Amino acid sequence: MEADKRCIVIGAGIAGAASARALADRGWQVKVLDIAPEPCAAASGVPVGVVSCHASPDDNLLSQLTRAGMQCTLAFARQHLTEGKDWYSSGVLERRFADAEHPKKPWQTPNPDSVWFSHVQLAQPEQLNAAGLSSEGSQDLWQPNGAWIKPMALVRALLSHDNIHFMGLHEVENMQKSAATGEWQLRIKHHISIPSMGSSHTYTSESAPQIVLATGAQTPDFLNQVLYEPDMGLHPISGQVSWGMQPAALDTLLPPFAVNGHGSFVAHVPTSEGKTWYIGATFDRHQASTTISQEAHRHNHQRLTQLLPQAAQALESQWHNDSELHAWVGVRCASVNRLPKVGPLNTQRWPGVHMLSALGSRGLTTALLCAQHLANGIEGRATDLPEALVKPMACVLDNA
Ligand SMILES: Cc1cc2nc3c(=O)[nH]c(=O)nc-3n(C[C@H](O)[C@H](O)[C@H](O)COP(=O)(O)OP(=O)(O)OC[C@H]3O[C@@H](n4cnc5c(N)ncnc54)[C@H](O)[C@@H]3O)c2cc1C
Repeated sequence: MEADKRCIVIGAGIAGAASARALADRGWQVKVLDIAPEPCAAASGVPVGVVSCHASPDDNLLSQLTRAGMQCTLAFARQHLTEGKDWYSSGVLERRFADAEHPKKPWQTPNPDSVWFSHVQLAQPEQLNAAGLSSEGSQDLWQPNGAWIKPMALVRALLSHDNIHFMGLHEVENMQKSAATGEWQLRIKHHISIPSMGSSHTYTSESAPQIVLATGAQTPDFLNQVLYEPDMGLHPISGQVSWGMQPAALDTLLPPFAVNGHGSFVAHVPTSEGKTWYIGATFDRHQASTTISQEAHRHNHQRLTQLLPQAAQALESQWHNDSELHAWVGVRCASVNRLPKVGPLNTQRWPGVHMLSALGSRGLTTALLCAQHLANGIEGRATDLPEALVKPMACVLDNA
């Protein structure tokens, strides 16, 4: 008998879109449901993000995950997105700020047999000059494969598959296993807007044998309120990005690549209105607020001044002009060990229910790789992930 390859993915951010795509590419029929009318309504709506790896001299788990993850994301981008418009392999300069309290281990130039070879090098004077920085005493790093990317373009491309059906304004409120069919039955609050009468809702249902939770910062609430399960220590981290239009006169004063360090700075990003620049994001742990704040703008301004003094000076007037300074706020979902949570929830209580969440501040870098791991697990295949990562990323809901 042929396997029943139907799945419902709850959430249409990068986690949901990548999961849907990994399954659709394997012949599954996937429905992607979201409360919002369109995909990328939450964290994945950040206008631009940096794809880079976490460099650590001891090659810790986050380094291993992000190094493999960025290769996966960029391979998809090369094939499905337009370089220069949707993403750009600009390289990433990583500034390493050290002080007496927070000394940095010196970065050794990697040998050809090092895992870091071709991924992370010491920054060269020409890269530092291009960012308006001095090379004297620099401990900064250069990631030649790093890139910036527009998550909305990425999510749109991931969902663009004949086997994927996106259903907006569908909020999953409840799920139960049907005794008759053995499938998961989802009760859905179907938001409708009636012209000149405001909004209303009806209830519908959808069912499938396999479910993927990709609910981002709402995952702890979903676990508590829909599944009556503990939240696995998942928590929200709110972040604000400050951004503005980039006048042509500043083109040569802003670095031609993304810069990480105290937050990230990306310039020369084309939009329908012209080129733009971005700095951020703030990092408010255990906060789920999406309110734009002047304090967060001030914080981003201060960080830019430290990260790239020349760029900060070039953009100075925009920080003091409300009509020229813009903001975007979103909420990340993070786990206690800073790694994503991916895999089956609990094979006894929730057979067929899986999760991809807690992508933290690096979801654009890691979601596509994690989604392959998830899809392999759903199909009962071996994972491509290094063994050391599988256990710390597992979703632990005790069988008790
Ligand atoms: C300010 C900021 C800057 C960032 N910068 C970077 C960066 O530079 N590089 C990088 O790699 N990452 C970055 N990230 C992280 C990245 O954006 C996130 O890790 C990623 O977008 C999370 O994706 P997600 O799909 O898990 O969650 P989300 O994008 O939040 O999607 C979850 C979706 O689930 C839906 N949903 C929730 N509950 C239900 C329900 N009951 N029924 C139906 N739908 C539901 C929501 O409406 C939402 O659309 C940044 C994040 C923020 C906030």
